[in-house]
Amino acid sequence: MHSPEPAPGHLDLYAKRKAVFPKAVDGRFRRFKWLVMVVTLAIYYGTPWLRWDRGPYAPDQAVLLDLGNRRFFMFGIEIWPHEFYFVAGLLIMAGIGLFLVTSAVGRAWCGYSCPQTVWTDLFQHVDRFIDGDRNAQLRLEAAPWGPQKIFKRGLKWTIYLVISFWTGGAWIMYFADAPTLTREFWAGDAAPVAYATVAVLTATTFLLGGFMREQVCVYMCPWPRIQTAMLDEKSLIVTYKDWRGEPRGSVKKAEKNPGAVGDCVDCNQCVNVCPTGYDIRNGPDIQCITCALCIDACDSVMQQIGRPRGLIDYATLEDCEIERAGGQPKPIMKALFHTRTLVYLGVWGAIGLALLFALGVRTQIDVSVQKDRNPPFMLMSDGEIRNAYTVKLRNMQTRPRLMQVTLEGLPGGVMWTDEMAREKAAREIRVTVAPDQVEVMRVYVVAPSDTTPQSFSFALKATDAEGGGDTSEARFDAPEE
Ligand code: SF4
Ligand code: SF4
Repeated sequence: MHSPEPAPGHLDLYAKRKAVFPKAVDGRFRRFKWLVMVVTLAIYYGTPWLRWDRGPYAPDQAVLLDLGNRRFFMFGIEIWPHEFYFVAGLLIMAGIGLFLVTSAVGRAWCGYSCPQTVWTDLFQHVDRFIDGDRNAQLRLEAAPWGPQKIFKRGLKWTIYLVISFWTGGAWIMYFADAPTLTREFWAGDAAPVAYATVAVLTATTFLLGGFMREQVCVYMCPWPRIQTAMLDEKSLIVTYKDWRGEPRGSVKKAEKNPGAVGDCVDCNQCVNVCPTGYDIRNGPDIQCITCALCIDACDSVMQQIGRPRGLIDYATLEDCEIERAGGQPKPIMKALFHTRTLVYLGVWGAIGLALLFALGVRTQIDVSVQKDRNPPFMLMSDGEIRNAYTVKLRNMQTRPRLMQVTLEGLPGGVMWTDEMAREKAAREIRVTVAPDQVEVMRVYVVAPSDTTPQSFSFALKATDAEGGGDTSEARFDAPEE
């Protein structure tokens, strides 16, 4: 890894940032970056506005983190607090997915889809739109403050601020009905936490994307340090093929002395387009986020001077050694699918299948029972024995459901609730549970005087055509004989 050497006897605790003014470039990786940028920004800003019909009893926002009611809606799926393992599973899949991508194509996450990269890229396009390309930006930076510079800086920072505000505003839309929250926000009726969140996210986007940019990747983010441990000699990384490029020399020099110089004409285009200002010819470094724009720049130079593309290219360290010795590198698919990526892919797929299975067999209703411990039982005046329970019936659907609770076991036992008369006690009771709610009932169970301590069950069944059910074991306490 390359790191700048301090001058002898000189200790630098803090290096002043050298502003980076990346030049615009075109090419296949730049076009891919455009695509990723448009898709990720469209998903981020647009998702809260997607609607999903769940009937009259549930919100119609496709993706909603309803913290107040402790529900997570995602299109046709509704996650309850007791099902948090789904969220944990998705987070684990995201983590392993990141390992998989890193092991296959290095820091592709950093180079293409990390929010810091996407917003920095967006702000750099704003720079070009207002100030012009790299050379114009350099001239404006060096120019003294005057009306034109003040106007351009003011306009640019205002656009930064609008984008940052929009970014903060989009975030809170995931936590409440987006159209309602927008109206309340502008009317001044939204919760204070909504304004505070937007303010914090506006400020962080403005600073991190507008000004700190590559410093976040190089100095603040822990991910590049973790990633280096995940890369091996089989991972594809952006590489300068020094055995082909060195020694550097101009086209004229190459024409005068054929074979004396390599393919690199030292035009610096690869450095000029780099969003972090790194020179990939110095070797792999934490400063390289693997965006591959230098590949586009160098390919275009090679095309202009009539030499084969790929002086800078995606390559594995293993292939570099083979190429250096004059051999042929492996086909790209072989380079992508090696043992480590296949293991990650297997684990990732297994967790995904397990989650899908759990989703397929999850019940939409369930029952849980908690027995009163003190007193464990009561003797009634007629000699019967009574136990009391708190029974919870959960309806996870967005419509009311009529449910039947039945005693299984406990011969001669009957039950009643606070809402019904003792005389109507039976082995079965019916309750309508409201949509998306848990019905909590006090249930009293009586059994004949000769009943001994034993286990029995509360069986729950939905009475509608969709059906479904659940059972919960319980204990019936009685005097020991
Ligand atoms: S763009 Fe290619 S030719 Fe130009 S300096 Fe970089 S590596 Fe050398
Ligand atoms: S060196 Fe190349 S791949 Fe690395 S960040 Fe700069 S432009 Fe992107």
